[in-house]
Amino acid sequence: MRQFDALEIAPELLAWYDRHRRDLPWRAKPGEPADPYRVWLSEIMLQQTTVATVGSYFRGFLERWPTVDALAAADLDEVLHAWQGLGYYARARNLHKCAKAVAALPGSRFPDTEEALRALPGIGVYTAAAVVAIAFDRRATVVDGNVERVVARLGAVEAPLPKVKPELRALAADLTPDRRPGDFAQAMMDLGATVCTPRSPHCDRCPLSDICAARAAGIAESLPRRAPKKAKPVRRGVAFWAVRGDGAVLLRRRAEEGLLGGMMEVPSSPWREGHTDNGGLLDHAPVADADWRLLPGLVSHTFTHFHLELTVMAARDVEDRAGAAGVWCLPDAFGEYALPTVMKKVCRHALDQANGPGLLL
Ligand code: SF4
Repeated sequence: MRQFDALEIAPELLAWYDRHRRDLPWRAKPGEPADPYRVWLSEIMLQQTTVATVGSYFRGFLERWPTVDALAAADLDEVLHAWQGLGYYARARNLHKCAKAVAALPGSRFPDTEEALRALPGIGVYTAAAVVAIAFDRRATVVDGNVERVVARLGAVEAPLPKVKPELRALAADLTPDRRPGDFAQAMMDLGATVCTPRSPHCDRCPLSDICAARAAGIAESLPRRAPKKAKPVRRGVAFWAVRGDGAVLLRRRAEEGLLGGMMEVPSSPWREGHTDNGGLLDHAPVADADWRLLPGLVSHTFTHFHLELTVMAARDVEDRAGAAGVWCLPDAFGEYALPTVMKKVCRHALDQANGPGLLL
């Protein structure tokens, strides 16, 4: 593995950045000070989501909540609703919590150290470093997937991810300059996104090509290496589609903690690995004495760590009475609730079945 220092990389990379930087909606123009609120908001949105997707969400949020105080004062449901489509709702919930925490600080100012930022909800190692570097132009090691790839290639690091992460981080720290650390972080991100791309890196137009060890060895495209992935487990559960006489469907809010915490759902059983016990299908029904029938087919959805298969049970003319905790909502008004993608799939499946010949078995 080749070692580098900041003096070797930073001048070339910063000169390239000054000419080729991406014009992104959350980025300050050259010479303008960065706004910590915009930097933080964009970094939370960009976690596990592409730049192209985030653009319109970022503009929408900023229009509606132009300051951290405005976001802190917003209703959580409004925030969750505006977040729909960005996935990982825990992030939206933490975003709102974090806005409240910052709004409670003197001058509603974001902290300018990694340690203080990490103490806020939803801010991990990466986001704290990104905010410190980009918003406050202070030296911090900002390592995302793009940076890992660039660093692994520059140093021809052949050990596989994820085990090699600490080594790549140490290498990235060595490269980070004291001067313009914010621009350096963004330059590394831009280089990874536009030049040192996962497939077919454009080494011919890379400002670091003369010093890149992977390029010299002809192994750039194969880096970083990854350990083979384990197969995802399959979890199974049952969703209950309860329809009232007027066509309204029962929705309820999921528990605050855990996956899709606080989001609305079609009431469902816990999702567990192993086979669904057909005998116990109704154990978690939101209304015990309705005429539950099994709908044909399954709803499948893949989360980061597991695949989910949901069986759907449906009941018509369910009486609206105590015991069915939740809200009754006509399908036309589902859009008013922050339904996660998997629940939208359940709704689509149940509505298709209801409109098709195979209604209830
Ligand atoms: Fe990436 Fe090629 Fe540049 Fe090396 S020379 S950093 S592999 S684009």
